[in-house]
Amino acid sequence: MLILKPSPFLLYLKYMIQKAISSYLQKEQQAILNPKAILFDMDGVLYDSMRFHARAWYETAINHQLICTPELFYLYEGRTGDSTVNELYQTTFQRNATDEEKQLIYKEKAALFNQYNDGEPMLGAKEVLTAVKSYDLQTLVVTGSGQYSLINKLNEDYPGCFIREKMVTGYDVKYGKPHPEPYLMGLEKAGVQANEAIVIENAPIGVQAGVAAGIFTIAVNTGPLEDQVLLEAGANLLYPNMTALAEDWEHIMETIQQFHA
Ligand code: MG
Repeated sequence: MLILKPSPFLLYLKYMIQKAISSYLQKEQQAILNPKAILFDMDGVLYDSMRFHARAWYETAINHQLICTPELFYLYEGRTGDSTVNELYQTTFQRNATDEEKQLIYKEKAALFNQYNDGEPMLGAKEVLTAVKSYDLQTLVVTGSGQYSLINKLNEDYPGCFIREKMVTGYDVKYGKPHPEPYLMGLEKAGVQANEAIVIENAPIGVQAGVAAGIFTIAVNTGPLEDQVLLEAGANLLYPNMTALAEDWEHIMETIQQFHA
């Protein structure tokens, strides 16, 4: 009889996932992790759009003589448009932007983004959704974005995955990430508790928001930042891309189920 032994790599992977679960439970004072809903960030997770956001922000900011670097916009990722403009004004002029300034700059940035963005879904994201759906989990989008060009495309690119009424966008929130508000709204829309959800995020500020909402947060480092930035933001697990996450999804779910068996 042939006995199939799990590979040392798989054992190590499951050990790492177990470690992540126990530190989550301990930190959040939860007894179990029982995922029923997966909350997806949009840019940099479902769409390969962050490079276009960063380029559009950078060019707009330079046009307005605002102090910034191209990389800065990856650190700001997840903030609402208003909050990003305020940060730029604080750095440059040590004051918040006026409503007129916010509107003008966000409008210019959005126009450039729409010009550059090719609407390409993130590589591996469809596979993650297929894997998630095979476990009968709810799927929701929680984004700081107010770009209808992408929000409206979700249904086309990920049919049957996201219902508009259950989405949280830049239009629904008051504070936005890194505040826990967007993910708390996501939990409410899903009708689940913090320990019944998993967040999938690519941005440090998004990871902070997921963690602040008390949710087990998986980071996928699809941008140019160091892994360390996402770990320091509090990510419970870290993947280099969505394809790698899709490949491991079964092991993550199995390990969670076995953890409480
Ligand atoms: Mg993102």
